[in-house]
Amino acid sequence: MKTKFIFITGGVLSSLGKGLAAASIGALLEARGLSVTLQKLDPYINVDPGTMNPFQHGEVFVTDDGAETDLDLGHYERYTRAKLGQRHNYTSGRIYNSVISKERRGEYLGGTVQVIPHVTDEIKQAVTQLDGEADIAIIEIGGTIGDIEGLPFIEAIRQLRGDLGKENSLYIHVTYVPYIKTAGELKTKPTQHSVKELRSVGIHPDILLCRTEMELPQGLKSKIGLFCDVKEDRVITARDVDCIYEVPLRFHQEGLDERIVESLNIWTRAPILTPWEDLVARIGQPQHAVRIAMVGKYVNLRESYKSLNEALFHGGVANSSRVEIDYINSEEVRGDALAERLAQADGILVPGGFGSRGIPGKLEAITYARENRIPFLGICLGMQLAVIEFARNVAGLPLADSTEFSSNTPDPVIYLMKEWYDYRTDTVQVRDETTQKGGTMRLGAYPCRIEEDSVAYRAYGASEIFERHRHRYEFNNSYREPLGEVGLSFTGLSPDGELVEIVEIKNHPWFLGCQFHPEFKSRPLEPHPLFRAFIQAALNYRASNNDGG
Ligand code: GLN
Repeated sequence: MKTKFIFITGGVLSSLGKGLAAASIGALLEARGLSVTLQKLDPYINVDPGTMNPFQHGEVFVTDDGAETDLDLGHYERYTRAKLGQRHNYTSGRIYNSVISKERRGEYLGGTVQVIPHVTDEIKQAVTQLDGEADIAIIEIGGTIGDIEGLPFIEAIRQLRGDLGKENSLYIHVTYVPYIKTAGELKTKPTQHSVKELRSVGIHPDILLCRTEMELPQGLKSKIGLFCDVKEDRVITARDVDCIYEVPLRFHQEGLDERIVESLNIWTRAPILTPWEDLVARIGQPQHAVRIAMVGKYVNLRESYKSLNEALFHGGVANSSRVEIDYINSEEVRGDALAERLAQADGILVPGGFGSRGIPGKLEAITYARENRIPFLGICLGMQLAVIEFARNVAGLPLADSTEFSSNTPDPVIYLMKEWYDYRTDTVQVRDETTQKGGTMRLGAYPCRIEEDSVAYRAYGASEIFERHRHRYEFNNSYREPLGEVGLSFTGLSPDGELVEIVEIKNHPWFLGCQFHPEFKSRPLEPHPLFRAFIQAALNYRASNNDGG
């Protein structure tokens, strides 16, 4: 098999939704019966996004193989069946790192190491390693055309057209056509400039995806086509939509998938889009509504909980329900103010996080959920805090804590486990306070065995699951007995029984903490079982509240 490559660049400004465009193209090609894979090339110098502040860069998405990646990989996995990992996200930093290591090892035999060809070759290798993985590989270049850091990537994909040939490569440029109110007109000049910039570095776009607030009239499409030297029928309107899952359908209406297969000279069936059509129809007509309080740190920036927001939305879709999220900043909202907000909620969620900021507020929210029997979902840090809350307020260990926040607590219910067996690498891992940051996390998909009589089992309907992790701290097994005796159940364990993956409170209608991040595996067409069940529980809670007053 020989893979054909689609390269997606962006112009005019950032945040045009290139990632969603790439993902939607993937969905359309899959709907035509083709297999796809996707890759993101990010121009920044960080070696991976793992250590980047979610405030600046949005969520760190985690793949099955434990790669900490750009959040666009989340879009790719949500829209397609592609299985992504380390190979599917490269930063400039990672590319340079590898070139410099080769230089240090003497692999360039004393030659002068340069951007062209050494860096560009390294990039080309990163891209072409996907050959054979799928019928089509969609490669998205981060940033905007004209960025200094992006140039080596642009040069590499320019060279690739020569290497791959015209029928095996396609350039799609995502640009912006603003509507200027005072003139009452859509303006094409920014697009013209952006394409000029792209052509000045040797890339002639085959297709233009024009982000705009309104439909581009035919006359405007032909004007853009003429000025940018792109066929008129390849100037595609990418109009703002109410719901991101409409994008594949809109692109199809514009003929985008047809133009792509035609350019790449592939014969396929017409796309089967009924699953997407049904999804969009269901989203448009919710029968119910629930309100979920999300108590966390990065609540001001929605991008930092991207997958979580999507997973809650999917859980809503699965229950024909709209999900309203009340984002509560646990550093600012405490005490009565917090209780008042939580009283409005049908479900409470404490997401993952690092560091001690905002912890007391999150603990208060968990107490509220436990005592008032409101459905509760705690994810990663959220599960660890649920354990701490239970230890302090139910098991009578007032100083219980995680060693992440208190290194000398007498009751370290959450701690760094010194030694544990790692299924992913089949090795015994050693962790302590001195091991380097970043290198010691449990990352990627791990198996978990679920006890049959549990909330988790009823949600999954399966006794073995694989879920993705990203954390250092673990439940301390010395506390299984004392916490178990007063009502905490350990319903999900690693196959060797050593790592606690799921906890539940026995006499609570729906209280579940998981050490993993289920949100990374939820898809609109396959909502995640835990989110489906959590929203269902929230709906039940709401209904019983309305009945009983
Ligand atoms: N800070 C916690 C740990 O490292 C939880 C991490 C998370 O929520 N992703 O274990």
